[in-house]
Amino acid sequence: MLIQQSPDVYEKLRHLGGMATDDVLSVNGAEGRSIPRPDWHGIAARGGVTPHAGVYRAAMPNGKRLSLLRVMFTDYCMMDCFYCPNSHWVPRKRYGFKVDELAKLFDEMHRRQTVDGLFLSSGIFKDPNATQERLLAVVETVRRKYGFRGYIHLKVMPGTTDTGLIVAAQRLGTRLSINMEQPSEELLNRISTMKRWNAGMLQPMLRIQRLMEETYGGSVGQATQLVVGAADETDWDIHVRQRHLYRELGFKRIYYSAFRPIKYTPLEEHPPTPLVREHRLYQLDWLTRVYRFNDDELALAFDDGFLDHRADPKLRIAVEQYDRFPMDINTASHDDLLRVPGIGPMAAERIVRQRMRHTIDNQRDLQAMGVVLKRALPFVRFAGHRPVRAKQSMLPLFQALSSDPAPAPAAAAAAHERHAHTDCAACPLSSATCGMAATAPSPAALAA
Ligand code: SF4
Repeated sequence: MLIQQSPDVYEKLRHLGGMATDDVLSVNGAEGRSIPRPDWHGIAARGGVTPHAGVYRAAMPNGKRLSLLRVMFTDYCMMDCFYCPNSHWVPRKRYGFKVDELAKLFDEMHRRQTVDGLFLSSGIFKDPNATQERLLAVVETVRRKYGFRGYIHLKVMPGTTDTGLIVAAQRLGTRLSINMEQPSEELLNRISTMKRWNAGMLQPMLRIQRLMEETYGGSVGQATQLVVGAADETDWDIHVRQRHLYRELGFKRIYYSAFRPIKYTPLEEHPPTPLVREHRLYQLDWLTRVYRFNDDELALAFDDGFLDHRADPKLRIAVEQYDRFPMDINTASHDDLLRVPGIGPMAAERIVRQRMRHTIDNQRDLQAMGVVLKRALPFVRFAGHRPVRAKQSMLPLFQALSSDPAPAPAAAAAAHERHAHTDCAACPLSSATCGMAATAPSPAALAA
């Protein structure tokens, strides 16, 4: 006799917490660096000691770190996104929570101080409105029944057309996000035949934005995610959308996820996107959102629509504008200081404050203020320091200062190898941290 045992809540958590790591929306690209995704099963060590399935340490905009329960309501999805491990193309066992089950689980973890907040996502199991209704029921239960008043990052399903659901999401979530996946309609159509650009994404985003402007309380910001390289889009395509979302729709964050092929999907033969490309996009994002570089400056970072993988965009822009340098560290404006590679917003502020008291005339002071000397020295001058100002020095400078090169293939292979030993065989996300093509299991193995 075959006895079918349904998975218990912890098995569901282990699986659906792991599937949610595919969504990088709560990864912080702070300081222009993209932080590697956690292990495939969503385990992130708290204090480096006790790992908990589904728990992820996220950095908030105010610099605080929160432990979030990052989980999918279900990993079953009826949609056909050509790159997605949850799409209907991939033959594997799917899991799903019940509303009360997930709300209770979160409450339990919160009371035990395992998590401080919730990041809730889902595949689309019936239609976007029905799925959204179920996610809202979880959040409503968490808020009303269990009295949780903290941080909830709630996904709004692409294609949610019911205004009542969007209003409820805005009321209950702290942060909302609709995954845009591609920067334009034409590019989106290359990776999905079912997603609708205008009605499914832009309109709900605009509605949320309007609600946030008109309503007191409720969610405080929108974010989205783009999958990089799946539709052969250029970095410039992404940058144009980036500017639109930040400047016109007031988005708080955009997250970038390098495409990697998943077996059984239509893009399984498509080459993976190098992680360094994702990394450069985060750096460009930082220049657009935080440093507020203008359009002319940002355009200098591109070559035929792509960012240079060898150097970070800020260095590239500085080299292209070499005539502006070296800058006098004691007289340059705050905005000019921000243009110097190796000087970030904090260091620029400290320099401006310090030089009101005394002249800055040595490297030690700069270092103490947070300046990365290796990058900054060729571009600044002060008493006792004047770098060679010659165009000829541009090329070696460019090469020497090139920061954060692509992860070494050997390191990526080693990471992949490590994952291969942690029963990754059951999970197409095994490539999440190493960026290498996953060896997806056979349907027979999955059914077992
Ligand atoms: S809608 Fe989301 S979960 Fe569903 S297939 Fe597309 S990307 Fe995957």
